Amino acid sequence: MPAVCILGGGYAGVRVARELAARLDRSWSITLIDRGDCHQLITRLPELVAAKIEPRDACLPFQRLFARRIHRVRAEVLAVDLAARQVDTSEGSFQPDILVIATGTAPDFLDIPGAQTHCLTVKSVRDAVHLRDTLADLRARRHVTRVVIVGAGYTGTEVTGELSAPEYRVPGARALGWIDVRIVAEDTRLLPQASPRVSAAAERILVARNVPLYLGLSVQRVDESGVWTESGTHFDTDLVVWAGQTRVAVDVHARTGYDIPAGKFGVDPYLRVEGHDSVFACGDASSAFDYAHARISASSAQLAIQEGDLVARNIDATVRRQALQEFRPRILGEAISLGGNDAVAEVGGMLLSGRAAAAAKRAALLRYLAGLSLPLVA
Ligand SMILES: Cc1cc2nc3c(=O)[nH]c(=O)nc-3n(C[C@H](O)[C@H](O)[C@H](O)COP(=O)(O)OP(=O)(O)OC[C@H]3O[C@@H](n4cnc5c(N)ncnc54)[C@H](O)[C@@H]3O)c2cc1C
Repeated sequence: MPAVCILGGGYAGVRVARELAARLDRSWSITLIDRGDCHQLITRLPELVAAKIEPRDACLPFQRLFARRIHRVRAEVLAVDLAARQVDTSEGSFQPDILVIATGTAPDFLDIPGAQTHCLTVKSVRDAVHLRDTLADLRARRHVTRVVIVGAGYTGTEVTGELSAPEYRVPGARALGWIDVRIVAEDTRLLPQASPRVSAAAERILVARNVPLYLGLSVQRVDESGVWTESGTHFDTDLVVWAGQTRVAVDVHARTGYDIPAGKFGVDPYLRVEGHDSVFACGDASSAFDYAHARISASSAQLAIQEGDLVARNIDATVRRQALQEFRPRILGEAISLGGNDAVAEVGGMLLSGRAAAAAKRAALLRYLAGLSLPLVA
C-alpha cells in the first residue's frame, strides 16, 4: 500500500492530513506522527501564560479532528534521512513513499552560555503552563518579580503584552506581587516580521505601560543573576524567557550530514525539500519563498495553513502525475494581542487598535476553528 507520512500535527500538518484524506483515494495510507495527542493552538499560548485560558482551550484532540482513515502515531521523531525517506521515532521506523515535514521549530539557544539552563520557553502548551505556574509561584513570594523576555517577535511581544496588562499586573483580590517585565532583543524593532506601522503601534502600547524595550542588543550569557549583553549591560532578573531564535525541531543532520540553512528546510516553489522530490516541508519548518514580494515567507500560523494546503494539493498532483502549483502566499492581515483590551491589527491595509483589533484577532481564531468544524471553547 503506498503511504504518506506527515511529521507534526500543528497548523501545517493538520491541514495536510485533512486535505489528503479528502483527496487521496483509499489505496493510500495516511499517517500523522506527533509527540502529543492534540493539535496545539500555539497562537493562544500567551493567553495561557497569563492564566486567561485553560490548557484545554489551546488543545484540540486529534481524535476530534481526523477521520478514521488517518492513522495517528504518538511518538517523538528522532531523526530523518531525507534521501532514504526514513523516519526514526521513539515508536519505531517509517519509510513512506511521500514524506511531509511539518514539525515546526524548537528554541535555538545559539550556544549562548547558560541560556538553555536558565531560560524558560513558550513553544508548547506544556511550556506555557510551566511558565504560568513559575510566575504564580514567584509572585506569591515577592513584591516584585523581574522578568526579561529575550526576543521581540510574535512570542516575545505578545507574552510581554499579556504580562504587562493592567489586569495581570494588579490581579484584584489575589495577593500577588507586581511584574516588572522588559524585552531584550537583537531585533531593532518589535515584531520585525510585521509592517513598520504595526511594530510602531505595538511599541507605543508597551511604552505607555512603562515596559522598557532594549532593542538591538545581543545576549552574551545568562546565569542565576540574570542576562548579560555583548555590550556589557547586565539585567538583574528572577526569570528569563527565551523568545528568540528557533530552528527545525527534528534532527536531519546526524544521519545524513544535511545542513539546514538558517534553521529551516530550503524548499522549491512547490514546497519540496531541495533535492528531494518526494519530501515536502511546510509551516515554520520550511523557508518557503514568497516570489511576489521577493522574500522568505514569515513564520506564522496563517502561512503554515496555506503551505499545508498547497502541500496536500501538490501531493495529490504528484500521485495523479499532474502539474504542481507554486506557493503564492496570501496575507490576509495580521493581529497582535497585547493583553487587556489592547491589540494591534492590520486588515485590508487598515491599521486597527484597541477593541477593533482584539476583535480581528478573535475573528481569525473563530474562522480557523470554524474551518475545523469546532466551536470556540473560551
Ligand atoms: C507564543 C507564540 C505566539 C504566536 N502568535 C502568533 C500569532 O498571533 N499569529 C500567527 O500567525 N503566528 C503566531 N505565532 C507563530 C505560529 O504559532 C507558528 O508560525 C505556527 O505554529 C507554525 O505552525 P507549524 O504547523 O509549522 O508548527 P507548530 O504549530 O509548532 O506544530 C508543530 C507540531 O509538531 C510536533 N513536533 C515537533 N517536533 C516534534 C518531534 N521531534 N517529534 C514529534 N512531534 C514533534 C509538535 O508537537 C507540534 O504539534 C506564535 C508563536 C508562538 C510561539
